[in-house]
Amino acid sequence: MTSKGIPRSHPRYWSLVLREQLVEAWRHGIVVPEGLIAHGRGECFDYLIGEETQWFAREAVRAAAAALLLAQHPVVSVNGNAAALAAEGLVRLAELLDAPLEVNLFYRTEERARRIEKLLRSLGARRVLGVEDATARIPGLPHPRGKVSPEGILRADVVLVALEDGDRTEALRRMGKTVIAIDLNPLSRTARMASITIVDNIVRAVPLLVETVRELKTRPRGELEEILRNYDNDRVLAGALRFISERLERLAREGVAMDPLAANGPS
Ligand code: ATP
Ligand code: MG
Repeated sequence: MTSKGIPRSHPRYWSLVLREQLVEAWRHGIVVPEGLIAHGRGECFDYLIGEETQWFAREAVRAAAAALLLAQHPVVSVNGNAAALAAEGLVRLAELLDAPLEVNLFYRTEERARRIEKLLRSLGARRVLGVEDATARIPGLPHPRGKVSPEGILRADVVLVALEDGDRTEALRRMGKTVIAIDLNPLSRTARMASITIVDNIVRAVPLLVETVRELKTRPRGELEEILRNYDNDRVLAGALRFISERLERLAREGVAMDPLAANGPS
């Protein structure tokens, strides 16, 4: 992680490091300018949840790990921001699941897809789809954001997406897929359309997901099925909203200056 010129003592050190990582990735043609703006929307919600992984994200991560381990054809979808912020963790996750990674870009150019593939391979990825082989289409999504690999997202039963667009999430659900979304905004269409929504920063959610997959990997299928049966995404999303609302109420009551949750950094 780079930290050029940012003193560690800065109260927003981690947030500044992430911004710098994204800008660096933009310089390398991995992130588009729109991705930088999307990150800003995420940062706002990260403030609201106290910049820490909360119970609703932990519960969703557990269900996500179970769904990925039970899947016939899980796929880990990677876009520019995900590559910039969590490439290494996503590669480890795919490895643990024996699943392919698929480069899937909203603002797609072949050049950017190839750059992301190169980054993933440099971190040890073995199967990277969606670059040379994005020959299939998600029905109902006009070119080129609907391009997918026939071996990957097209035939997947479970797809993990991060910082995804609501339209595409909806289209994947219409295809009958289980969609796991990592999205800091519990109000986004993606968060509401996904089957399992992890309301957390991708930089915290991916390592926790890797750890949880590792933990659950040896458990019997019955136990994983039980985790999924007991999971309720509406309850988790409602929990995220209630958490934010109660936290704001409390801060308004007790004074913002007293906020004990104003931690700054990946937990
Ligand atoms: P939708 O189309 O789903 O309603 P949107 O238009 O807000 O949502 P986009 O702009 O397509 O979504 O994508 C950005 C989304 O990713 C936002 O919901 C934002 O909160 C979320 N996001 C941004 N940065 C992060 C991050 N670091 N970790 C997790 N989520 C993030
Ligand atoms: Mg959108």
